[in-house]
Amino acid sequence: MVGSAMAAVLGHDIHFHDKKIALLEAGPRKEYDHVPDSYSNRVSSISPGSATLLSSCGAWDHVCSLRLKPFRRMQVWDACSEAMIVFEKDDLDDMGYIVENDVIMSALTKQLDAVADRVEVFYRSKAVGYTWPLPSHGCGTSPWVQVELADGRRLQTKLLIGADGHNSVVRKEAEIKNIEHQYDQSAVVATLHLSEATDNNVAWQRFLPTGPIALLPLSDTASSLVWSTSHDHASELLAMDEESFVDSINSAFWSNINHSDFIDTAGAMFRSAISLLKPLGTAVRQLPPSVAGVDAESRAMFPLGLGHATEYVRPRVALIGDAAHRVHPLAGQGVNLGFGDIACLAHHLSAAAFNGSDLGSLKHLLKFETERQRHNVSLLAATDMLKRLYSTTLAPLVLLRTWGLQATNALPPVKEQIMAFASK
Ligand SMILES: Cc1cc2nc3c(=O)[nH]c(=O)nc-3n(C[C@H](O)[C@H](O)[C@H](O)COP(=O)(O)OP(=O)(O)OC[C@H]3O[C@@H](n4cnc5c(N)ncnc54)[C@H](O)[C@@H]3O)c2cc1C
Repeated sequence: MVGSAMAAVLGHDIHFHDKKIALLEAGPRKEYDHVPDSYSNRVSSISPGSATLLSSCGAWDHVCSLRLKPFRRMQVWDACSEAMIVFEKDDLDDMGYIVENDVIMSALTKQLDAVADRVEVFYRSKAVGYTWPLPSHGCGTSPWVQVELADGRRLQTKLLIGADGHNSVVRKEAEIKNIEHQYDQSAVVATLHLSEATDNNVAWQRFLPTGPIALLPLSDTASSLVWSTSHDHASELLAMDEESFVDSINSAFWSNINHSDFIDTAGAMFRSAISLLKPLGTAVRQLPPSVAGVDAESRAMFPLGLGHATEYVRPRVALIGDAAHRVHPLAGQGVNLGFGDIACLAHHLSAAAFNGSDLGSLKHLLKFETERQRHNVSLLAATDMLKRLYSTTLAPLVLLRTWGLQATNALPPVKEQIMAFASK
C-alpha cells in the first residue's frame, strides 16, 4: 500500500511531470471491477489524514465508490476493571474509516494507470540486489543507485525509496540498523457476522491480559476482528470450530472473569470523585454488538513485532512505511504512519523538483527524516508502553492504569490532543 501510494502521489505531482518513476512490486496487480460480496480479512483503520493523502492522488474517490465504513466513536476498555475511554466526534466528522487493504490497492492501481506515462509499474518483479554510489560499498562506476531484478534486468535511479515492508531488504543492504523486538503475540484476524443489524459505527477494543481484541465495523451486519494474543492461543483460535470461535470472541468482550473486588471498588470511588469534579467529563458506556458467525476461510494469524530504523535516509535512499517502522496493531496506526511518511517525503521532494535540486541529496532527505522520526518514535513508544501496561494483572499496575484511563476519559482537551495526533 505504501509503495504504491508513494508512486501515485509523485506521479500526480505537477513538479514531477518530467521525471520517470518506476514501481517494483514482487506481487501481482490487484484491481477490482466491482468489490466481491464477502469482505477481505485484511482491513485497516484509516485516519482522516491518510484519507486526505489518498485524495491528493485521486485514490480516495475510488475507495469511496468501492467500499468503506466510517466510524464516529471508539470505545476502549480494560478487562480487569470498569475503566474505559471513549473517543468521539461531537460534530458530523468521521473519526476514521475501516477499509479493506485490497480496496486501497485497487484504488491506487487505478490512479497509477492514470499516470502510466510517468510511472511504470513492474508487477511480479523482485529486486534482488542493490549497488550504492558510496565508496564504502565498493562501487564507483555510477553516481546513481543500481537495482538488479530477479529476471536479470538492471535499473538505475537518483533516488531509491524502500517501501518493502518490515523485512526490508533495502534497509538491510543499505546497512541501516533496525531496533526490533518480536512480541509474544500474534494477531488473529477474521470477518464476523453480527447477531443483529445496527448502525455499527463504533470501533471497539478491549484490553485482555493476553492482549487487545478489536472489533472494527465493516457494514451494519459485519465487523472485522483483530485479536492479539499469545501465539499458542492464536493457533487454538484458528483451529476451533466456528461455534467455539464465536463463543470465545463474545466471552472476550463480555466476561468479567479478570475483575477483582478491590480494583472495582477503588475504580468506582475514583470515578465518583471525578464525576463530582467534572460532571460532564464522563462518556456513557455502550455495549459492543454480539457476534453470531464467522466467514469461512477468513481466519488468519500474523506474528507481531516492533521495529524502528535508526536512520530513514542515506544519500539517494529513503525508507518509508513498515520498512522504516513496525508497530503493534493495537493503535491501528501502521499504514497511517506510512501514509504520513509519504505526505512528508513528497512535500520535500516536490520542493526539490521545483527548485531543480538533486532528488537524492541528503539536504532535503534529512528534513524528511527529522520530521517523521519525531512523529513516529513518539507513537511507537506510546503503543509499546500501552502493550506492556495492559499485559499485566498485577494489582498496583491495574489500579494505576484504571485511574489513568478514568482520568484521561474525564479530560476532553487531553482526548482531543490524542485524537488530533492519531488522525494525522
Ligand atoms: C493484524 C494487523 C492489523 C493491522 N491493522 C492496521 C490498521 O487498522 N491500521 C493501520 O494503519 N495499520 C494496520 N496494520 C499495519 C499495516 O498493515 C502495515 O503497516 C502496512 O501493511 C505496511 O504497508 P507497507 O506497504 O509499508 O509494507 P507491506 O505491506 O509489507 O508491503 C511491502 C511490499 O513490498 C513488496 N516487496 C518486498 N520486497 C520486495 C522486493 N525485493 N522486490 C519487489 N517488491 C518487494 C511486497 O511484495 C509488498 O507489496 C495492521 C497490521 C496487522 C498485522
